Amino acid sequence: MFTFEEISRYHADLYEQRDDLDFEIDGIVIKVDDYRLREELGMRERSPRWAMAWKFPPREEITVVEDIVVSVGRTGVLTPLALLQPVDVGGVTVSRATLHNEDEVRRKDIRPKDRVRVARAGDVIPEVVERVEEPGRKRSAPFVMPENCPACGAKVVKEGAYTICPAGLSCPAQLVGRICHYASRNALNIEGLGRETAKQLVERGMVRNVADLYSLTVEDLLTLEGFARKSAGALYDAIQATKKPRLDRFLYALGIPLVGERTARLLARRYGNLAALRQATEEDLMQTPEIGPEIARSVVAFFREKENREVLAALEKNGVEVQPQRDNAVGLPLQGKTFVFTGSLQRFRREEAKERVEALGGRIASSVSKKTDYVVAGADPGGKLDDARRLGVQVINEEEFERMIGRSP
Ligand SMILES: [Zn+2]
Repeated sequence: MFTFEEISRYHADLYEQRDDLDFEIDGIVIKVDDYRLREELGMRERSPRWAMAWKFPPREEITVVEDIVVSVGRTGVLTPLALLQPVDVGGVTVSRATLHNEDEVRRKDIRPKDRVRVARAGDVIPEVVERVEEPGRKRSAPFVMPENCPACGAKVVKEGAYTICPAGLSCPAQLVGRICHYASRNALNIEGLGRETAKQLVERGMVRNVADLYSLTVEDLLTLEGFARKSAGALYDAIQATKKPRLDRFLYALGIPLVGERTARLLARRYGNLAALRQATEEDLMQTPEIGPEIARSVVAFFREKENREVLAALEKNGVEVQPQRDNAVGLPLQGKTFVFTGSLQRFRREEAKERVEALGGRIASSVSKKTDYVVAGADPGGKLDDARRLGVQVINEEEFERMIGRSP
């Protein structure tokens, strides 16, 4: 047990040492070390109630805004970005920072050539905190949001604080964003399909929607800048390897508004296959835990839209078969089993291990309790291993875990 003063002193000491450490830290985490209390406190949606972060103030530096440009994301939202004179913020060179939206730019009154304070907190995109007063300097004209989308020229619309390009997939910037999202690690994980490649595919008219990815040949990919026989072959293989996606990942990859990874998983569990989900009504969707009216409306609207239906049909035509998913299915090999990982896993990514366990009916917990069935110990296991021994929980190594989940090497 520590008193608040002790914790506070530790926080202050560590903050002073932070620049001397070999790694980047953004604060401390305070955890309840009494396991009974932990169980009593339980979990919030994504995080335990028995642990809380106490962050350090973000790192800040002063630099100059060279220009303000507007970028268009996959959902069509226009975001003003400050292009900065590169500056080192806590060991990372920052050359662009988000200004969020038009109101924010106006509120902070940021204009090109202004001196500004820039902050970076953890992995998030750096942001412009405020303008630094420079008495006597003549400033440029205030920033105004363009009336037309910088990528496709469509007239933009305002929705609350947001400015949106309504052109959907006919806007190349949105299409590039969608392709990148579809290929991203937690979606279908197509290695080698990054922003630059997606941009080229769209600019050359080779891909008009995500379904077109599957008709690309090695020869097509060879025409792209920066591709040789080997890399083109690898990208082709990577794309073809995603033809049997799991339902939850596929749903996330589609980029349905308001459907993040967690929601995609909940929907996949409830409906089990794409056809059932596509037929669901708003009322029915809302019977799913954690799904409220806004998400339900968004899902129904997505599957009703003509363009999306066409893309889904084209995906099917190009050989994409979304795999049905079963949940609560009795008889799954790891049904009701709880796993905790500790140490670094050499043979799996954690995300992969988690998916595998869940697909087999088990679940992953973040801390060891009497209810834990197995602790999987990787290299350099932490205190969880001691917890397991103390509570008499079975400890297995990665090899044993691999056999248990039946993964072929
Ligand atoms: Zn546009």
